[in-house]
Amino acid sequence: MNQNPTIGLVSLGCPKALVDSERILTTLRAQGYNFSRDYEGSDLVIVNTCGFLDSAKAESLEAIGEAINENGKVVVTGCLGSEEQLIRDTHPKVLAVSGPHQYEAVVEAVHENLPPVHKPFEDLVPADGLRLTPRHYAYLKISEGCSNRCTFCIIPAIRGDLQSRPIASVLYEAERLVKAGVKEIMVISQDTSAYGQDIKYATSRFHKRDVEARYYNLAEELGELGAWIRMHYVYPYPHVDKSIHLMAEGKILPYLDIPFQHAAPNVLKAMRRPANQVKTADRIKSWREICPDLAIRSTFIVGFPGETDEDFEQLLEWLDETQIDRVGAFTYEPVQGAPANELEGAVPEELKQERYGRLMEKAQEISIRQLGKRVGRTIDVLIDDVAPEDNRALGRSQWDAPEIDGQVFIDDARNIKPGDMVKVTINDSDEYDLFGTPAEQEFRVEPNA
Ligand code: SF4
Repeated sequence: MNQNPTIGLVSLGCPKALVDSERILTTLRAQGYNFSRDYEGSDLVIVNTCGFLDSAKAESLEAIGEAINENGKVVVTGCLGSEEQLIRDTHPKVLAVSGPHQYEAVVEAVHENLPPVHKPFEDLVPADGLRLTPRHYAYLKISEGCSNRCTFCIIPAIRGDLQSRPIASVLYEAERLVKAGVKEIMVISQDTSAYGQDIKYATSRFHKRDVEARYYNLAEELGELGAWIRMHYVYPYPHVDKSIHLMAEGKILPYLDIPFQHAAPNVLKAMRRPANQVKTADRIKSWREICPDLAIRSTFIVGFPGETDEDFEQLLEWLDETQIDRVGAFTYEPVQGAPANELEGAVPEELKQERYGRLMEKAQEISIRQLGKRVGRTIDVLIDDVAPEDNRALGRSQWDAPEIDGQVFIDDARNIKPGDMVKVTINDSDEYDLFGTPAEQEFRVEPNA
C-alpha cells in the first residue's frame, strides 16, 4: 500500500476516554495515518469503549458490533477492554483488545493489522525513530520506574513504581530497529528481570501470537531477531537461571550486567537490595558451567554506612570467587532524600578512597586474567569506528557494551566500516582491551547491512 492508511475512531465514555482517544490519534497522525469520519472511508476502526455502568457496557458492545458489520477491521480499547473475554465472546472477530490508557498497545495493534507506510522523502521521523546512538546499535527501554526500595536510591520516588511496556510493543520496536540496520540492541530498564511483574505478565499479540510479558519470553523472542541482544540491569532473581541457556545457544549475548553493589550480607541488607538473599556466588558458578563464555559486568559501592573492614574483605573475596569480568565502582555519597542518609556508621572519606583503590586493583587483576583467556581465539567484532589512513579499526566483542566496557583494537583493517561485523583473531590483551587482526582479512556483512 503506497497510500497512507486511514483510521476511523468511535470514542465513547467520559472526558478521560476522550483524552485517551486524542493521544491515540496524535500518535497515529504523527506516523502518517489519515482519519475518516465514516466506516466506508476507513481501513480500520478503533472503538474506545466505556465500561462504567451496565448501560455503558451495552452501548460499547453495540458500537463494536456496528463497527464490525460496517467495516470489519476493529481494534477495541478503553475501560471495557479490561473485560476482554466478554468482548471476544460477544464479537470474536475483534482484532485486538486493550484496556484504558494503553496507548502503545492500541498503536501496536494498528501497526500489526494496518502497517504505516514510511515515505522517506516526506516523513519527518525515520522508520526506526530518532536516535542519538550510531546507526548500528540502539537502546531498547522495556519499562519505566522501579518497585524496589534500595536505601541509597531515589529513582522510585522520582519515576514511580515499575511500569512495564506491553511485550508486543517492545518486540515491534526491536524488530523495526533491526530492519533499519541496527546490529546490537541493549535492553535497559531499572530492573530488567522484574519485567512484566506489574502488569501480571499480560500477554499481547506479536505477529498473531500471544506472548507473555516475562523476562525469559522477552529474551527468547528478541533472540530470534538476528541482532546482538545485550541484557542490562538484571537482578539475579531465580528465573534468570532459565535464560542462561539462550546465551549458551548464541540466541542472546553471553553477557549480563548485574549491579550487585556489594557482597557482604549485612551491607546488602542495609542497602535493601533486590534478591540479596540469593547465594549469588553459587549461581554464577552454575551459569558459567552452562555458558562458559558468559561475561558479567557489575557496579559496586564502597564505604556504604556501616560497612566494616570484614564486610569489605568479604567483597574482595567474593570478587575472587566469582571472577566478575567488568567492574565499575563508586564511593558512597549521600543523595538528597535517600533513606540511607539516616543510617549510622558513616565511613570516613579517606577510608572510602582506600577501599575504592583496593577494589579497583582487584577488579583489574581479574580483568587481566579473564581477557587473557580470549587471546588466540577468533571472535566476531562489531565495528564502531575506523581510521582508514592507519588501517586501524575499533570495535567491540560480545563481552563489551558500548561506553562502559573495553574495546577491540584491530590492526591491518582494510575495507571495514562502522557497523560491519568482522571476524578478528585476538593476539593480545591488557587490563581492559583486546588487540587483534582480521581473520585472513575476511569479514562478514550481516544480511541487514
Ligand atoms: S537502585 Fe534499587 S531502587 Fe534504585 S532503581 Fe535500582 S533497583 Fe530500583
